[in-house]
Amino acid sequence: MDQTTILTTEILDAFEDGIYVMNQDLVVEYMNSVMIAEFGDGIGKKCHQLLNQSAEKCEWCRSDEVFEGETLRREVYVPLVDKTYYLIEIPIKKKDGRMSKLSIYRDVTEIKRREQMLHATREDFRNLFEHIATGVFISSKEGKFLNVNKALLDMLGYESKEEFLNIDLPRDLYVRPEDRTRFKEMMERDGRVIDYEVQFKRRDGSTIPVLLTAHARYDVQGNIVGYEGLNVDLTQRKLMEKELKEAYDFMNKIVQSSPNSITATDMKGNILIWNQAAEKILGYRASEVIGKMNIVKIYPEGLARKVMQMLRSEEYGGIGRLNSFPMVYVRHDGEVVEGNLSAAIIFDSRGKEIASVGSFVDLRDRLKMERALRDTQEQLLQSEKLAAMGRLTSQIAHELNNPLYGIMNTLELLKTEIAPDNKRRKILEMALSETVRLSDLLRKMLSFSKPDQEERQPVDINSVIDEILLLHEKQLRENDINIESSFTEELGLVIASKNQLRQVFLNMVANARDAMPDGGTLTVATEGDGAAVTVKISDTGIGIREENLGKIFDSFFTTKGEVKGVGLGLSVCYGFIKEHGGDIEVNSQEGVGTTFTITLPIHDPKASKEDQNG
Ligand code: ADP
Repeated sequence: MDQTTILTTEILDAFEDGIYVMNQDLVVEYMNSVMIAEFGDGIGKKCHQLLNQSAEKCEWCRSDEVFEGETLRREVYVPLVDKTYYLIEIPIKKKDGRMSKLSIYRDVTEIKRREQMLHATREDFRNLFEHIATGVFISSKEGKFLNVNKALLDMLGYESKEEFLNIDLPRDLYVRPEDRTRFKEMMERDGRVIDYEVQFKRRDGSTIPVLLTAHARYDVQGNIVGYEGLNVDLTQRKLMEKELKEAYDFMNKIVQSSPNSITATDMKGNILIWNQAAEKILGYRASEVIGKMNIVKIYPEGLARKVMQMLRSEEYGGIGRLNSFPMVYVRHDGEVVEGNLSAAIIFDSRGKEIASVGSFVDLRDRLKMERALRDTQEQLLQSEKLAAMGRLTSQIAHELNNPLYGIMNTLELLKTEIAPDNKRRKILEMALSETVRLSDLLRKMLSFSKPDQEERQPVDINSVIDEILLLHEKQLRENDINIESSFTEELGLVIASKNQLRQVFLNMVANARDAMPDGGTLTVATEGDGAAVTVKISDTGIGIREENLGKIFDSFFTTKGEVKGVGLGLSVCYGFIKEHGGDIEVNSQEGVGTTFTITLPIHDPKASKEDQNG
């Protein structure tokens, strides 16, 4: 200690670094307190005994060089304490000419560990940069890549990195160079760009969609000098998006093209789906209701709740289901739509209710058809009744006809036996006239039940009516009845029994005459539309009471009293016209007049020819 005159032990003990001195025999002569605390007091021991607990000189010991006058600064690893020290070894010449060595050391184990870690991290990053499957780049503001990883080369189809680092980015990489301009603008503004979708050109000229995320690199003055970031190839994602969209479009088309109204709502009733049929059937457009209206609005009061109750019960197709249930909805215009509803609740993977779907079949048309069918059935029943009545009438008429002719013949015979001026002759003639009337009635009854089977032929309606009017002109005029007729020419022909048609129009004219006892106007008009002929026969007579309008075509309905009317005329007309495929309608107002409208189908020679061929 006496040799190290400058240093006092107090000063050396105040150091945080370890300090020791040893002589040329490697014997430790001084240790400061930091070193004693770490290695124990070793003064007087050989330094390798102290530091390495070894009888041999430590392999890292370079004391000889120091004793030769060299100052060494180096790191030394000491296995005994598993530490690395930064060591300064300074030669000291003693007064006796011998050398000593002053060593100052500092524990740098922690610093070394950090350095190693840093190094390892840097290595990791380099590995990541090279091996990551995403394209990584550093580029200059001017438009050149400064560094890129292999993934980016592969993505863009380049083999040589050198070639790639030489391309001009706006010109050779961007499909639209203006995208690069925009990229630079965003960088100037925000210092970064996130998820920017662009199209890049590959080396072979093909294009790929890329998602670009990057941030700016600055110089010390804070100016942007370049960029670094990632390019993600979107080809797969785009493909998946396309497939997903196609699948969605397909499902959507199925829903949209369904003829049934398909709707879906969340559990609060907010509308999520509203297909085209729903628009048509319920009268609301999808854009008016999706996310804007509650489904409750189309339900009559309380019914929406009932549907939910049924859906949640077991009884209507299982929990969460409702199978074809009669339902009415209220359309946008207030009209009620009748139909059938099938519905289901949609559950998520944990069984929670998330939505409900309804498919509604509009049954308005079908119900209308069913009603029409019922009407037709009723009419058929009426026709059958008429036919039965006809058969009965025919039997009675037949039975009565022969004896009546017998009576008539007898009366005629009697007539020849009584002189014309005899009083009894008058009574006889009265009896005869009544039998004639009776025979007339029987004839009508027979024609009602067993219509004239005259063969049908093409008939010009105008000429039939003309003939009838001509025959009755005189009689009508005598009754102060004025005739007005308007015939439409070239109406086309109807296939008909001329006799039956004559009988129909004759009956109409006779009824009109009876309805106008004080005179009036009989108007007869024909019209046609190429498919049918319409004949209107109007009078200005007494008209028909409303309560009788439904009965006048019934057999034996008459208001003309027993003597004058039989009540068979119109029912015979009805039968004839229906048999000809036509129709007969009446319009009347009491005290004003009556109009009968008869329509008959026009015979199409082309169609009938095809019929015959077929
Ligand atoms: P009838 O002439 O024997 O009474 P119809 O069957 O021809 O039998 O007529 C039935 C009933 O229809 C008539 O009794 C009459 O009440 C009513 N009717 C028919 N045609 C007319 C008409 N043009 N104006 C007023 N009533 C009519």
